[in-house]
Amino acid sequence: MIDIHKLVRKNIKKLIPYQSARRIKGNGDIWLNANESPFEQQKNFFFNNLNRYPDKEYKLLLKSYSNYTKISYKNIIATRGSDEAIELLIKAFCEPKKDSIMIFPPTYDMYQVYANILNVKVISILQLKNFQIDLKNLKKFIKNTKLIYLCNPNNPTGTLINHKDIIEILKFTKNKCLVVIDEAYIEFCFKNTVVDLMCKFDHLIILRTLSKAFGLASIRCGFILAHIEVINIIKKIIAPYPLSTPTLQIARFFLSKNNLILLKNNILELKKNKKILIQELKKLFYVKKIFSSSTNFILVFFHSSKQVFSQLLKYKVVTRDQNFKILLQNCIRISVGTYKECINLINIFKIIKIK
Ligand SMILES: *Cc1c(COP(=O)(O)O)cnc(C)c1O
Repeated sequence: MIDIHKLVRKNIKKLIPYQSARRIKGNGDIWLNANESPFEQQKNFFFNNLNRYPDKEYKLLLKSYSNYTKISYKNIIATRGSDEAIELLIKAFCEPKKDSIMIFPPTYDMYQVYANILNVKVISILQLKNFQIDLKNLKKFIKNTKLIYLCNPNNPTGTLINHKDIIEILKFTKNKCLVVIDEAYIEFCFKNTVVDLMCKFDHLIILRTLSKAFGLASIRCGFILAHIEVINIIKKIIAPYPLSTPTLQIARFFLSKNNLILLKNNILELKKNKKILIQELKKLFYVKKIFSSSTNFILVFFHSSKQVFSQLLKYKVVTRDQNFKILLQNCIRISVGTYKECINLINIFKIIKIK
């Protein structure tokens, strides 16, 4: 047997595989741990041209997403989920061991994960107590930063970044570095998108995905919206045919006019369900605080998240414990499900035994 540890890159040897929501074991009936849409798509597809590499289909998808965002298709790249977009940007812009990315914990883990894989340094600026960006420290530690990753609205807090702070960051970073705004949940608070700022700030990059509001986590489709020069650089490193024909055809179908109406209705229903969930959770003695959320999930601060998490699991409800994360002691993130799932969840909350 070869000694594999002699062959593997040193920084990879040290890594621990990322614990995505699905990898965490659990037996569940109600899945509220990955911020997926609870609405299953009821459509059967028939695919053709499977013998050909998907080139034309890719361009058609860019046109569809261009119609949806009102951004030229020349400023769009489609990626294998927005996770790949996060990776491609670091690959393209950060010199290993020399350059840094800047992140604002508690936030989405994958920025850090990809930086670690690529041996790129991570500058972490802790969020303020109100989950806003610490502008003073951002400015103080910006040196060597090539990419700033802002998640808006943020996962796992559900918070929106103050608009005037985004403007201030964009002004401050002009000619210094790129600012990536991850809008994975923007459909749940659409008027807060910053796409309109792209014409004013060349160094603004926006990430989008079909995995959340669109209810297509399974097809792995995300987007980079950026200045054409950034797009041209990403084109140098992305795989020749990054998305499969099934993915491309399904994505285009769900970006069609009729389906955008369906999307709107699903978002409205989730908002209603979220309101009911918050109302009922507020009544529980062991809930300390529910943070305001602009997304399809809520962050709840309990007296003891450990007790609540394991009690919910007993009733086969899978949520995401955030207890181990900085600033989020005793917090659990709960995705909003269907009306039925929310009512079931509320009833379970009423009967679980909390000391
Ligand atoms: C879920 C999520 C993503 C990843 O989405 P994919 O397109 O499925 O890779 C990216 N960013 C944030 C903040 C997310 O919550």
